[in-house]
Amino acid sequence: MQVDIQKNIKLSSFSTLKIGGRAKFFVVVKNEDEFLAALTWARKKSKKIFILGGGSNTLFSDSDFDGLVIKNEIRGTELVSENENSVIIKSYSGETWSKLVNFAISRKYYGAENLFYIPGTVGASPVQNIGAYGVELKDIFYNLCAIDLENGEKKHFNLKDCQFSYRHSFFKGEGKNRYFILWVAIKLSKKEKFNLDYGDIRNKLLAKGIEKPSLEDVSSVIQEMRNDKIPNPAVLANAGSFFKNPIVDSTFFEKIKSEFPDIKSFPDLKGVKIPAAWLIEKCGLKGYRYKNVGVYEKQALILVNYGNAKQEDLLFLVEFIRKSVFDSFAIILEPEVNILK
Ligand SMILES: Cc1cc2nc3c(=O)[nH]c(=O)nc-3n(C[C@H](O)[C@H](O)[C@H](O)COP(=O)(O)OP(=O)(O)OC[C@H]3O[C@@H](n4cnc5c(N)ncnc54)[C@H](O)[C@@H]3O)c2cc1C
Repeated sequence: MQVDIQKNIKLSSFSTLKIGGRAKFFVVVKNEDEFLAALTWARKKSKKIFILGGGSNTLFSDSDFDGLVIKNEIRGTELVSENENSVIIKSYSGETWSKLVNFAISRKYYGAENLFYIPGTVGASPVQNIGAYGVELKDIFYNLCAIDLENGEKKHFNLKDCQFSYRHSFFKGEGKNRYFILWVAIKLSKKEKFNLDYGDIRNKLLAKGIEKPSLEDVSSVIQEMRNDKIPNPAVLANAGSFFKNPIVDSTFFEKIKSEFPDIKSFPDLKGVKIPAAWLIEKCGLKGYRYKNVGVYEKQALILVNYGNAKQEDLLFLVEFIRKSVFDSFAIILEPEVNILK
């Protein structure tokens, strides 16, 4: 099989941060055979590979990518099995995440609605164990199938194999750049089951006079809440939360709390989770601007590109924020976004 390998393609157009040089080689794949043909091409020519979904969690380098970028457009969603209580749905990895969630909502399957409206593809969802409003992919994950980039062989991963943790997985750690995730299956409930206790979901529903919400009610409240605080990348380029919320041990947390009694926090299995946005805001950096990049004025966890920014500028801002937070709180912020250098 032949694939259409393009040359010198501008990567900024394929990232929601709108930053990046060119890909020396670039290909769009729409099915598994095209992916395998692209993989064979890259291996024959000893080119490195970067798998690209929707580019909503990727910061490309200003320099050209000296390899093959494979843009994944392998789509399709299907019901795999069902019983009285639950269903298993499988989506190919180039499908948009929102399409999978819409598929579930329209058929009255419960569990994915809090993850509604997260940009990007199904294939990237396990990479950082996407999460929002108290739910993470791991809570509904069933299994996935990935292709080993070294030998083209398929391998199935169950929940344990994926080693999911907060915005992390095997595919962001040990297995980074080693696998192409081909499809992902999730398990949802056929019985009504909501997670409304996180943040303001319940209050927002009550404010609309909704006591017994439907899946559509919950997803539309989630969409409204997201639109209120996250800028639309088509209007103001960004990659959602740029940093992870740091998790510290409880003794350390109590020490900070004695100095900053208004500090926000969430309980976490590994200790106490502190909102990175609160730390950045406390450093006086909400709305801060450096050249053409800045800290979003409504949400300090989001870094934005006001236009024609360079990775160099954004990384300068990132280091400035990390240093400010470290100097004030002795906490090291870790980026959530995948940074290609
Ligand atoms: C406005 C906005 C809001 C956001 N809100 C949230 C949120 O609420 N919660 C959250 O968790 N995230 C959020 N994000 C981040 C982002 O949407 C998710 O991380 C999403 O899963 C990224 O999908 P993508 O296809 O765009 O990934 P890309 O940016 O294309 O890729 C991300 C990483 O995954 C790898 N990858 C992609 N596809 C595959 C594959 N098939 N196989 C193997 N590796 C692959 C890439 O190589 C890269 O390392 C937000 C981003 C934006 C812009």
